[in-house]
Amino acid sequence: MSRTPIIAGNWKMFKTVSEAQNFFAEVKGKAEVEGVESVICAPYTNLPALVEAARGTSIAIGAQNVHFEDNGAYTGEISGGMLKELGVKYVIIGHSERRAYFAETDEIVNKKVHAAFRHGLTPIVCVGEKLEEREAGETKEVCKTQTEAAFEGLSQEQAAAVVIAYEPIWAIGTGKSSTSEDAQDVIGYIRGIVAGLYDEATANAVRIQYGGSVKPNNVAEYMGQADIDGALVGGASLEPASYIALIEGA
Ligand code: PGA
Repeated sequence: MSRTPIIAGNWKMFKTVSEAQNFFAEVKGKAEVEGVESVICAPYTNLPALVEAARGTSIAIGAQNVHFEDNGAYTGEISGGMLKELGVKYVIIGHSERRAYFAETDEIVNKKVHAAFRHGLTPIVCVGEKLEEREAGETKEVCKTQTEAAFEGLSQEQAAAVVIAYEPIWAIGTGKSSTSEDAQDVIGYIRGIVAGLYDEATANAVRIQYGGSVKPNNVAEYMGQADIDGALVGGASLEPASYIALIEGA
C-alpha cells in the first residue's frame, strides 16, 4: 500500500489575483516536499494566474466547485471543460459550505463527481456530520450515506482515483478539531465503505483526508494515523508560512 499524502489548501472566498500571486511567490520551492502532494484550491478568478505560476513546480492547482453539466444556460457557472483547459487538476466537490448554503444534495454531488471525471479532473469529495448528528451518534451513518451517494455509478478505476475529505462540520473554522483517534476511526470506517462498494484494493488506493481546524501544529498527529492520507485545510492555508509548515509537517 503506497498512498501519496495529499495536503490541499481550501482558500474559500479569499484572495484576489495579486494576493494569490504574492502568496505563490513565497511558497514556491518551499511548499514542495518530496513524497507529499501539495494542492491549492483557489477561487475561479485566481486559477489562470496560479496555474501559470505553478508551472515547473510540484504544486497542483484545484478549483472549489464545478457545474455538473458540460455547458448550457447556467448563468454564473463554470464547467469541468473550462477548468481542464486552464490546467486545473483537482476540484473540491460537496464541501459542507456548498451543501449548507447552496443546497447541494448528495445527488448533485454525485453528478459533479461524474462531471469531474468526464473532464479528467480529480475530485476531492467532502463528507462529514453536523454537530447534532455527532451528538445523536449518527456520524458513521451520515458518512456512509454521503460516500455511497458520491460514488454511485463510478467505475473501479475512477473510484480508486477519488480523494475523500472527511470533515466533521463542527470542526470547520471553529478551532475545535476532531482528535486524531476519532478522525482515524471514522476515516477507517469510510475506507471500509469503499471496500464494500468495490474491493479491498480499491479501498486501499483511495486517499482520505481529514479536514477541520488542521494547523501546522497538529497536522503530523493526523498523518500518523493509519488511514489518514492528508488534510483539507481552510484557515491555516491562507498564510504562506503556515502553508509551508503544513506541507513540511505532513
Ligand atoms: P478550516 O476549514 O481548516 O478553516 O477548519 C477546513 C475546510 O473547510 O475545508
